[in-house]
Amino acid sequence: MARKFLVGGNWKMNGSKQLVDTLVKALNEGKWSPNVECVIAPPAPYLAAVRAAVRKEVGVAAQNCWTEGKGAFTGEISTEMLKDLNIDWVILGHSERRSIYKESDELVGKKVAAAVKADLKVIACCGESEGERDAGKTTEVVFRQIKAIADQLSAADWANIVIAYEPVWAIGTGKVATPQQAQEAHKEIRGWLAKNVSKDVADATRILYGGSVSAKSAPDLQKEEDIDGFLVGGASLKDKEFLEILNCRQ
Ligand code: PEP
Repeated sequence: MARKFLVGGNWKMNGSKQLVDTLVKALNEGKWSPNVECVIAPPAPYLAAVRAAVRKEVGVAAQNCWTEGKGAFTGEISTEMLKDLNIDWVILGHSERRSIYKESDELVGKKVAAAVKADLKVIACCGESEGERDAGKTTEVVFRQIKAIADQLSAADWANIVIAYEPVWAIGTGKVATPQQAQEAHKEIRGWLAKNVSKDVADATRILYGGSVSAKSAPDLQKEEDIDGFLVGGASLKDKEFLEILNCRQ
């Protein structure tokens, strides 16, 4: 089954009304192939404005959400609120959430399940640290993170899940994984899905690569068989470069 290439832009905690206007204008005026899906993830305070301003084919994602629909969870963002704002995606399990906010594999799994139950599509992140890679533990770590998510989902739920493989050592460091390193990890992840969920889910689930993707590295990375798109951080804040990345696949 053909998997539609997806390029996501994770703006993290960056931006201002002015930058939002610039980035949205570039996407509204820019061109890329209908074979490429674009999803942008602005910080929470800008979600509603971005959803209202950006053209409708561009998906808008939150960068986080909580496990409950409403209640006494000061500072949190609920799945119901995202739906109320017509937000259709959420990024969960980003390594910054895992390392800075100590989100456990189990909590990430619960958040993913809550988001899917609320009819949100999820970009679920996984990835090993440099020390874990050096210790030969890449697959052990990534499989553990994905299992914690898969444990919470039915096979049908996977239609709303995109996995982002983001090695922590490549995020925001300028040290991009080689196409071979990324392909190898993606193939392992697809193999894990085939073995532990189903062959159909493994064939259909998109696996994005994230970690210092740039207009320079994207063309070679996108050639790999199991790379179905990118999750882009820093370069998604540069209007021209993000459009170049969107255009690396026709
Ligand atoms: C990210 O935050 O998901 C990311 C991949 O960041 P960067 O592209 O800046 O490494």
